[in-house]
Amino acid sequence: MQNVFSIAIDGPSGAGKSSVARAVAEKLGAMYLDTGAMYRAVGLYMLKNGVPLNDASAIAANCPGVDVRVGYGKDGQQCVYLGEEDVSKAIRAAEVSLAASSVSTVPAVRERMVALQRGIAQGHSVVMDGRDIGTKVLPDATLKVFLTASAEVRARRRYDELSCKGMHEPYEKVLEELIRRDEVDTHREASPLRKAEDAVEVDCSQMTLEEVVETVVSLARQAVEGKA
Ligand code: C5P
Repeated sequence: MQNVFSIAIDGPSGAGKSSVARAVAEKLGAMYLDTGAMYRAVGLYMLKNGVPLNDASAIAANCPGVDVRVGYGKDGQQCVYLGEEDVSKAIRAAEVSLAASSVSTVPAVRERMVALQRGIAQGHSVVMDGRDIGTKVLPDATLKVFLTASAEVRARRRYDELSCKGMHEPYEKVLEELIRRDEVDTHREASPLRKAEDAVEVDCSQMTLEEVVETVVSLARQAVEGKA
């Protein structure tokens, strides 16, 4: 595909957004940005610095000190840094997931992350995944996808993903945390998770990763051709 385009993939935790977005970006020769990793890095920073996660003013006050950077390894894999430290693995811990959900309710954190995300995307064809990409970060995206799946399917996938990485959490705990995060993400005041009016909803409960990727690639081709 020729022109510079942008694809927004939003949806609840564990729907497979990152895997889909990464594969779609590769197929279309675009840059991939996992915005959740950036909120996770902010959450990790607050945990490391003992900032209470139920204190929005303390989080906002500490926000200017957070130096989140995104880089790409030789294999094209996205890495996230806090200052000079590569925290790509540390941000996947369960306690960091909840910390990310808490810090992402704070407007000062969101403003900072949205500005960083727009800066990274500028001038590039990009596939971004998150919660507010279609509604806030890239409101003029060439294609917006809202990727969903049942909570049980999402929890099972997250459980399998963690097990593969050697992080063993009971399935019930993974499901409970996922439902808690859904609750926070959809009910927060600042940019809650919701489907953009012009997004295409894809329920992937019964689909394989390859099927979802093919669906999104085909929607992207149609959208880019339609706008050319
Ligand atoms: O996508 P992931 O599960 O890694 O995101 C971690 C948390 O970051 C989410 O639960 C959500 O609260 C927050 N987030 C957000 N906006 C985004 C991406 C993630 O609020 N664009």
